Parts: sequence; C-alpha cells; structure tokens
Amino acid sequence: MVLRNEDLDSTRFKMEFVPAMIEDLNWFGFEWQEGPDCGGPFAPYNQSERMDFYRAALEKLRAGNFIYPCTCSRKDIRSAARAPHAEDDEVIYPGTCRQNRESEIANRKFSWRFRVPDGETIFFADGNLGGQKFRTGKDFGDFVVWRGDGVPAYQLACVADDAAMRITEVVRGADLLISTARQLLLYRALGLTPPKFFHCELMKDEAGVRLAKRHDALSLRTLRARGQTPESLRRDWL
Ligand SMILES: [Zn+2]
Repeated sequence: MVLRNEDLDSTRFKMEFVPAMIEDLNWFGFEWQEGPDCGGPFAPYNQSERMDFYRAALEKLRAGNFIYPCTCSRKDIRSAARAPHAEDDEVIYPGTCRQNRESEIANRKFSWRFRVPDGETIFFADGNLGGQKFRTGKDFGDFVVWRGDGVPAYQLACVADDAAMRITEVVRGADLLISTARQLLLYRALGLTPPKFFHCELMKDEAGVRLAKRHDALSLRTLRARGQTPESLRRDWL
C-alpha cells in the first residue's frame, strides 16, 4: 500500500492537511509501506516534488504528437455551439485548437490538451463493477494534461506516478470511471502498462447526495470526536 500526497493544486492544498490526513487514516486502520511519512523505494511521495516525472511524460506526449496547445478559456469552451456534456458534466471539448502549433501560439497562455481518437470505444474490466465501456467524443473529449498555469493535470500526474511507483492496483471512487478511460489512453500513448482498477460505489447521504467536503459533519475527524470507533464505522458503512 502506497500513500501518495496529491498536493499539486496550490489553491486547494495546505501543508497542515498532511499530518491531519495521516492521523485520520492511521486512526481508521490504514497501514502503508510507502509514503511521505515513511519514505520508500519510489520516493518522493509528494506530487509537488515530482515535477521532473511529469515534465518527462509531457515531453513524450509532445514528441509523439499526442497533445496540442489549447488557448481556449473555460468560457470559450462553455459557449462553443451545442457543446455536449460528458457524463461527469464536463463540457466535451469541441476541438477548436486541434490544429494549433506551438510555434504559432507566440506569447499567449495555453494548456496542453490530449487529442482523443475519434469514435473509439474504450473497454476495461473493473474489479468491482465489471465490464466498462466508454465512447470517445461522446462520453469524453480532448482533455487537459497540463494546465495554463504550469501545473500538470490530475490525469497526467496520476498516470506518471502510478507507472513510476509500480502501482499494480488502483482502488478509488466510481466518480473516476471516466477518468480511467482517459488514463488508459495516456498509458497507451506513453507506452506504459496500466494497473488493475477497482472502483467503489460512492457513499451517499440520507438524501442520496454523494458525500463531499461540505458534509463536514461526516468527516472522519468529526465522527471520531463524537466517539465513533473505526469498528463502529466499518460496521455502519457496510
Ligand atoms: Zn482550445
């Protein structure tokens, strides 16, 4: 088990979250053999210290012509005519910048976007939810791998790290099923072997709304302060 600290988004990340996260996970009963607190053979385990890995992956994608510079703002993409929405409610990118060349961008700010092959079906066998199928261009479109502010996007950082850290199985929430389809395209473009995937159904509140940060009353920390034990939580959550 590997604990990786995904701290690339400096607008959301705060240093004091790390000891709190480690304490909460330890309390709940998680034990990992590699992580930012204990080190390991594929250190560092803070993404903010792994920029060289992400730059190397970006360079490989660029050399293979898998990505293109996109100068669209969020507003441009939202207002693109009849832009359909992907299942995760992201607007499907209309392909405006597909023909862009880096040399023509001059001094404009741009992100790097992955050119998703048209009309392909991505299949994968999920360890929990079974066979999964996504259509490119319909379920998701060209996605950002490197943000305009110089930060690698989640998809790229995740794939680069999972490969470099020799991750064999990824367990995560079902809200990331489409991300897995995107990431499989990245694995292929980078010539890497993907891990196995196991997506868990999301926990919902009484009204059927998925839990998020606004449900602070249900954070591990709050539940613990109220006297809940890891055993009682595991029993309740089954
Ligand atoms: Zn664009």
